[in-house]
Amino acid sequence: MANDKKMVAAITDMEKDFPQWYTDVVKKAELTDYSSVKGCMIIKPYGFAIWELIQRQLDDRFKETGHENVYMPMFIPESLLQKEKDHVEGFAPEVAWVTQGGDNVLQERLVVRPTSETLFCDHYHNIIQSYRDLPKLYNQWCSVVRWEKTTRPFLRTTEFLWQEGHTAHATAEESAEETIKMLNVYADFCEDVLAIPVIKGEKTAKERFAGAKNTYTIESLMHDGKALQSGTSHNFDDIFAKSFDIQYTDKDNQLQYVHQTSWGLSTRLMGAIIMVHGDNNGLVLPPRIAPTQVIVIPIAMQKEGVIEKAQEITDRLKKSFRVKNDLTDKSPGWKFSEYEMKGVPVRLEIGPKDIEKNQCVLVRRDTGEKTIASLDNIEETIALLLDDVQANLYKKALDNRNSKTYSAKNMDEFQDILNSHQGFIKAMWCGDRACEDKIKDLTAATSRCIPFEQEEISDTCVCCGKKAKNMVIWGRAY
Ligand SMILES: [Zn+2]
Repeated sequence: MANDKKMVAAITDMEKDFPQWYTDVVKKAELTDYSSVKGCMIIKPYGFAIWELIQRQLDDRFKETGHENVYMPMFIPESLLQKEKDHVEGFAPEVAWVTQGGDNVLQERLVVRPTSETLFCDHYHNIIQSYRDLPKLYNQWCSVVRWEKTTRPFLRTTEFLWQEGHTAHATAEESAEETIKMLNVYADFCEDVLAIPVIKGEKTAKERFAGAKNTYTIESLMHDGKALQSGTSHNFDDIFAKSFDIQYTDKDNQLQYVHQTSWGLSTRLMGAIIMVHGDNNGLVLPPRIAPTQVIVIPIAMQKEGVIEKAQEITDRLKKSFRVKNDLTDKSPGWKFSEYEMKGVPVRLEIGPKDIEKNQCVLVRRDTGEKTIASLDNIEETIALLLDDVQANLYKKALDNRNSKTYSAKNMDEFQDILNSHQGFIKAMWCGDRACEDKIKDLTAATSRCIPFEQEEISDTCVCCGKKAKNMVIWGRAY
């Protein structure tokens, strides 16, 4: 039994040291490994399998909304990056430069893409001539590079995987509509598939994407009460079109600028899954993105017929679920803690006594609850159980967020809250950058968003006491 306990004992208590707990889970659940490239991670098969399920389901939603996948080069010539002033200023501090190819110093330096607006704009400039060429609804799955000083697996790495949608439209109304449409795609995906409740809203000017007219965001709250920006959608209106001269002739033969959007979601979401659902036994995966939804573990394997029965059940369940069995000679206890660590939603145990009674034992990962189920209709039982785990994880995450959402009317209240808790703070804001900066200096909390669903906490700005414009959600963030 000493061995059985070792695996769980190796992770830190999340209530004592959350950052260490996170690092332990990432490692013990075999999601990533350190690489010899500073700030970059190796995503291991189990971690990548989760990303693939995210990718597949999100990609389906992009296709359903009319988008097509393309692929752009990973290098951007310096002159192209320079074309949009705010954009280059925003990204310059964190770009990686290529200055040499083989033995030759390059005539023009290249940037390793930190994001691809400039490449898409250059392409759109070449391929859009007429209103008949619009809209262009493109997306690409790729990696990008942003030179980070401090890094953490999934949350902040120098190279990370993501998707970036880039669209061009005839009118300002259409680009505005697309921006919100894709924000809603992200929000529904996070809530339905990842079981992570999100708050939809707009970023303040300070937090806006470099070169955008509006940036919208979905914000989620981690178990420790810190916020995580989980996806963003930007409306560029005609700002980039003017810098890159992307024009089309309309039906009246007049030249018009296109109106553009971009939207992105990255492997940071993997960090959100870990930090929203995980517990002291490790990772907890929502069934919809679990690479293995059911793990079949034989008990008393040496007894006649047990392995065969475990294999038979596995084959049967494979028709309906992502299922695996573990027929290795590790002890059942060791296997239990291993698959708990990996967050497998349901464990199915089958031993000689169960076989006699035509039943099995089902254990759910989220609550640890054990039930005995007949093998006759095991498919239906497991389908219902997985739905229930999915729904319960969402509810738990929502309860956590609600219990860690506070409101403040003045800075004393604001600071008191943050001195004793982490969480979202709802507070009114006058709209002045000075107040936003001051709040950050005093509390290390940033404006997460101006939520679409506004409330009236008070009439006056939490910071300066002048007349308030909006309610803002504030918090310390990853
Ligand atoms: Zn103010």
